[in-house]
Amino acid sequence: MPAQATGAAGVLPDPGSGVELRGVRRQYGLVVAVKEVNLSVARFGRVAIVGPSGCGKSTILSVVSGLEDADEGSITVLGARSSRERLAKCAWMPQRDLLLPWRTVIGNVCLPLENRGVSKKEARTQVEPLFTRFGLQGFEDKRPIQLSGGMRQRASFLRTLVADKEVMLLDEPFGALDSMTRGDIQMWLLEALHTEPRTVVMVTHDVEEAVLLADEVVVMSPRPGRVIARIPSRLPAFTSRRQAVAMPEFIRIRETVHTALET
Ligand code: ADP
Repeated sequence: MPAQATGAAGVLPDPGSGVELRGVRRQYGLVVAVKEVNLSVARFGRVAIVGPSGCGKSTILSVVSGLEDADEGSITVLGARSSRERLAKCAWMPQRDLLLPWRTVIGNVCLPLENRGVSKKEARTQVEPLFTRFGLQGFEDKRPIQLSGGMRQRASFLRTLVADKEVMLLDEPFGALDSMTRGDIQMWLLEALHTEPRTVVMVTHDVEEAVLLADEVVVMSPRPGRVIARIPSRLPAFTSRRQAVAMPEFIRIRETVHTALET
């Protein structure tokens, strides 16, 4: 951990458009999951989406990633419009870990590197230090089924990280972790994004996590989900999560988000 992790604002000036949604609607049969969604994430910006269950948060990640297409509206990711191009620019971590059961845990994490032509040996050398950092040391050669839910989630997060895409779409990335591990990993992620900025769109039900990690918290209405509030989250520099959550600015932003959720 460096002397100071940055607050959510990050250090880079806004160098252009990261992710843009304009008038997006997505419908499953008769269910309109989201409609008229407008969302703008600056390049290297970090947006956290919060809202009631079923309001379409995961749907937004899915249409941004290019795995699904919107029924109406436009989506651009680093300037790319087609779903195929968007898919190439995004690393998507779904809520349910999609680790391949027949591969070892390290084999799963190395997959994006191997897909880019990195040898198995080199990929392993690159990711091993991350296993230690994420408390997965000793589990490298186990199968996913032999890990706890929280461990599988960490492995899935690592795989998203090593995919090394500029846009990271994270769906409840730390939901299955106990609060201590969760706090550690949140701080680690902030630090990692400080040294290697990415454009991040994350979904979380944890308002504190949203305020801590994002530079803007987007609040959605109940289904059909629309964006009803955009709350900037720019915190003074802090060195620990505990310090951050006690800051008056943090508390003010957290309460603003709760109020938006309640209305
Ligand atoms: P959230 O992530 O906010 O909990 P989702 O995006 O998962 O919400 O879902 C929004 C709505 O769309 C829900 O009513 C859900 O049941 C519906 N939905 C999502 N994906 C599908 C699908 N593949 N088929 C049918 N309905 C879906």
